[in-house]
Amino acid sequence: RGNFVPPIRNNGGPATINSRITGKNDDSMEDSTKKCLEMLCGPDGELPEKLRNLEPRLIEHISNEIMDKDPKVSWDDIAGLHHAKKCVTEMVIWPLLRPDIFRGCRSPGRGLLLFGPPGTGKTMIGKAIAGEAKATFFYISASSLTSKWIGEGEKLVRALFGVACCRQPAVIFVDEIDSLLSQRKSDGEHESSRRLKTQFLIEMEGFDSGSEQILLIGATNRPQELDEAARRRLTKRLYIPLPSSEARTWIIRNLLEKDGLFKLSEEETGVICNLTEGYSGSDMKNLVKDASMGPLREAHQRGVEITKLNKEDMRPVMLKDFEAALQEVRPSVSTSELGIYEEWNKQFGSLS
Ligand code: ADP
Repeated sequence: RGNFVPPIRNNGGPATINSRITGKNDDSMEDSTKKCLEMLCGPDGELPEKLRNLEPRLIEHISNEIMDKDPKVSWDDIAGLHHAKKCVTEMVIWPLLRPDIFRGCRSPGRGLLLFGPPGTGKTMIGKAIAGEAKATFFYISASSLTSKWIGEGEKLVRALFGVACCRQPAVIFVDEIDSLLSQRKSDGEHESSRRLKTQFLIEMEGFDSGSEQILLIGATNRPQELDEAARRRLTKRLYIPLPSSEARTWIIRNLLEKDGLFKLSEEETGVICNLTEGYSGSDMKNLVKDASMGPLREAHQRGVEITKLNKEDMRPVMLKDFEAALQEVRPSVSTSELGIYEEWNKQFGSLS
């Protein structure tokens, strides 16, 4: 480990970056951690105030594992959901791109909830928002805070909001937010998870009032578990439903076209669409994957050695491949579950 001399001075003398944070001048900090902290220093070479009392290894974890500088999802990758896209553009993207216009009466909410069945594109929307608004994207699964970071969740939450503050505009996406902000009563609730929840709400409160350009997006498949405090902070609540038949067609076409495999007629796609009522976007992706294996499986059955197969000799993906795949890939959401979302949407969802 070399002697690290950062571009900052402390009381007139050189100080290592770790001494600024830990108050000690030890050399135990990994080089990768030092590099990461250096990147967060302002133009004056100082580590921003918000980060000074945080543990460097947590800051590093946030920067390396949770922060995604280039989420690579655009609106055009997401099938259907026109209503959600329109709302999100108005509520989130314009305000992040033009904070000067969105003040006063127009000042946007800082919390957005995306709820609906699993695999319907909630995470994709989060990433697309970050991409379209040229914001830094932070993704964290709330259940990992309670399971993987036992006892450290609070500190990690502080680090998360701290780093996001230094990387504005920022979008913090909290998956399975119900596991963090659930309404389960405190008797059975562990002390640590109660503290974690409080810390999280405090952090949200902190940027809600200020001029920070941070948006919090919570995603959940169990909106009914959220308590009143959570609902109040997530001011906009958008239902992300299962894909329409149009959206399902789009997913099939888009995925196959990407690989130059789309050869189905309109009629055939129509048949597949009718057979996939109730399938989520993620089910559709799995279906297409399975169907696209059809030509290979058939060739193999005919005795062709797949390792020596000529790509040009392969037949296109056909309707019969989808029919076979439909036996394997079943819809993952039941109709009774859908009823719960629709009810909750009626009661708490934002209609525009
Ligand atoms: P959620 O966050 O709602 O559980 P994701 O956004 O993680 O779901 O979606 C999982 C995968 O399913 C995506 O990576 C994508 O391949 C596919 N998918 C889901 N919804 C859509 C959609 N509306 N358009 C295109 N692909 C989708």
